[in-house]
Amino acid sequence: MNSKQTISQWMENNQSVFTEMAKEIWENPQIAYEEQFASELQMSALKEEGFAIQTPVGDSPTAFVAEYGSGKPIIGILGEYDALPGLSQTVSTTHDEVVPGGPGHGCGHNLLGTAGVEAAFALKNIMDSEELKGTIRYYGCPAEEVLSGKTFMAREGVFDDLDCALTWHPGTSNMAVNLSMQAMVSVKFHFKGTTAHAAGAPHAGRSALDAVELMNVGANYLREHVLDGSRIHYVITNGGLAPNVVPDDASVWYYLRAATKDQVEDMLQRVEKIAEGASLMTETQVDSEILAFAYETLPNEALNDAMYENMNELGLEPFTPDEQSFAQALVDTVDSKVVEMSKKMFGKPIDEMLPTSVENDKSLFGKTMGGSSDIGDVSWITPMGQVMTTCAPVGVQVHSWQATASFGSSIGFKGMHLAAKTMAWTALDLLENEELLEKAKKEFAEKTKGKPYVPGIPENVKPDGAERVKDPVVMTS
Ligand SMILES: [Zn+2]
Repeated sequence: MNSKQTISQWMENNQSVFTEMAKEIWENPQIAYEEQFASELQMSALKEEGFAIQTPVGDSPTAFVAEYGSGKPIIGILGEYDALPGLSQTVSTTHDEVVPGGPGHGCGHNLLGTAGVEAAFALKNIMDSEELKGTIRYYGCPAEEVLSGKTFMAREGVFDDLDCALTWHPGTSNMAVNLSMQAMVSVKFHFKGTTAHAAGAPHAGRSALDAVELMNVGANYLREHVLDGSRIHYVITNGGLAPNVVPDDASVWYYLRAATKDQVEDMLQRVEKIAEGASLMTETQVDSEILAFAYETLPNEALNDAMYENMNELGLEPFTPDEQSFAQALVDTVDSKVVEMSKKMFGKPIDEMLPTSVENDKSLFGKTMGGSSDIGDVSWITPMGQVMTTCAPVGVQVHSWQATASFGSSIGFKGMHLAAKTMAWTALDLLENEELLEKAKKEFAEKTKGKPYVPGIPENVKPDGAERVKDPVVMTS
């Protein structure tokens, strides 16, 4: 048996442990920065296995780093475990909440993090039995859904000494993620005005809500004059309390997205001018507050190729007739036009409902998909490889109740085990094959030449939950 077969064997023997972990996290969904359950569950498992744990990381109470081995190379595996608000759902094919209005794992981060832990365990095992040199690090990253967990960790420098990083995301097909994701800033604008009786003395009032509305009009006109593929979306988080009181307080929350961080910075400056214009028009005051700022993702071809080769050789465990009919019933709840469009989402049309084929479409390099992730920051610090695996049927969209159902089912667990094996095999390649790492690093150096990583998130901004960080950073093993 070669080393890769040994890894696979170990994983098959121990698979149920990780299925159980992913299930437990799915059953205890917690939103950004509140993921005590998942982070503690994973930390205690890793600690028991002999990993040294560093927690918290900076001001993030539920972030941690688990390390095993010593010396170079240092291979990072990125995990996530936060849930989404309002996506509570049982493992069923009708909309049925576990907790009405409660959170749920509609993005599959219960699988995302657990696959990383599974890979780290298997690697520890092979490093021991074959006396391999090098370090494996699993990163427990909170709050991906608010696009900031890894950016705060990056600001603490915890990714700086990595030789490379591997990650994955649950999806509706098996592929190397050669597409880029958009850079993004999350920013709130707070307007302050003057209250007055809205009928008796309207002349005495200065409406903060007027300012918000005028700002949004300005931003909507800006849409015509931004680069193709840019996104501007907002919600009014505070619009006043009663119609007969001129609101002295109003806030609007924007996400600005574009293909690169530079473009987002440019858009932000323009939107800030619009906010100032609105405040001038309404004689109100305005303050802006940046909550998150994530880089676009920079895919690494050498690492993605290596992950693809391994995933292709491993293959996905076939789905049972029960899983097929569960998937079909979920797809039946989705608009058929949306299902058709989903088949063509990543270039080459997909004809399987639960794809088992593995793709590595090179034409996707240089293209950007709608959406962002805080893995973008990591990908500008160290070469990063990423794959996606089938954890839900084609047509089911992430961030939906159907996705929560699938990510809590055996369909999701199968995709998770494939991702875990893919990351473990690729990390083994990287530990044993210096050439692969050199190739990935050379590509990274070329792509980032003249563009050193500079955190987008301002220095004074802290993550939610920072007040819960009381203990100094502890190292245990
Ligand atoms: Zn996600």
